[in-house]
Amino acid sequence: MSIITKVEVYTVELPYKQPFTISLGTSVSSTDVVVKLVDDEGRIGWGEASPAKRITGDSEKTIVAAMYTLAPAIIGEDPLNVERIEEKMDLSMLGNTSAKLALEMAAFDLKGKILGIGVRELLGGYREKIETDLTIGIKSPEEMGEEAVSIVESGFKAIKLKVGVDVEEDVQRVKVVRDAVGPDIKIRIDANQGWTVKEALKALRMMERYDVEIAEQPVRWDDLEGMAYVTKMSPIPIMADESVHTPEDAIKVVKMGAADYINIKLMKAGGLLKARKIAAISEAAGIPNMVGCMMEGGLSITAGVHFAAATRNVVTTDLDSDISLKEDFVEGGAGIENGHRTVPEGPGLGNLAIKEEKLKLVAVFEEEQRIQTF
Ligand code: MG
Repeated sequence: MSIITKVEVYTVELPYKQPFTISLGTSVSSTDVVVKLVDDEGRIGWGEASPAKRITGDSEKTIVAAMYTLAPAIIGEDPLNVERIEEKMDLSMLGNTSAKLALEMAAFDLKGKILGIGVRELLGGYREKIETDLTIGIKSPEEMGEEAVSIVESGFKAIKLKVGVDVEEDVQRVKVVRDAVGPDIKIRIDANQGWTVKEALKALRMMERYDVEIAEQPVRWDDLEGMAYVTKMSPIPIMADESVHTPEDAIKVVKMGAADYINIKLMKAGGLLKARKIAAISEAAGIPNMVGCMMEGGLSITAGVHFAAATRNVVTTDLDSDISLKEDFVEGGAGIENGHRTVPEGPGLGNLAIKEEKLKLVAVFEEEQRIQTF
């Protein structure tokens, strides 16, 4: 038995090495929200929320605002009861999946530390490492080809290309990268909803000759009929990303045949347990999962690696955003070895150090519901 007595909320600036462009826009940095849970014996769990305004609808400010409802709802709870902590949050507020995920991740970290077990083992336990691709943002075909070569040279066996701007150019991007990396590297593409149904089918038929493994979210997130039609007609397997946030969304995609794969992201799901539920629905329907990420720091990437390593139905990952940061606020955590992410040793989220000097304290919630703001 342990009791959560305090929640501290911080923000952290995460500048990228280079601007990152997808069909939804360009970004140069993220402001993430970091939470620290403290229990009655002074033990600590850490969690991270990464806003994706056009995907989860969360901004740094809405995540912090949600903490004023969510943190008081879980103070006084036992961190061993993670499912109950999730329920408390769901009953106090709809949506706000990134904020809920941060608190649930911190509860899992704390639970693992109390029990002396890694989150990977708490979630099931299946493997110690898993493949990841490295993502290239939208640029000229030539620039993407050059970047692909350097990614392969650094040991990656899978590359994800952002597309979804213009069909002819998008096909050219894939062609140039395939010619540059040769036949043995997996190429995945992600249109981030950038195509119409007709554009998607035209592009995917032209890309087939370049051996594209998976095409992610070709059309709008809310157009499941369109996703189902593209899935039926496309020569390349289709992955739902923005169309599936929650377990309920996964059921809709399964019922409609709207994808061949589902991309699970912790920020969309609102918790590691919810992510497990999406994986269970997918597995029962014969749909493999990838685990992806927003522009996250090393803390939530490490949580994603624990989840992916714990879950049989996850066949690959796109857990790479921490590699694209100029500076991270985490030291240690998930490793990277020959295109694979490795689970760190140690209880909870494992051996990692938070560089607390990089964090800015924005709110503290304590047992008597006293709220201090800074
Ligand atoms: Mg995607």
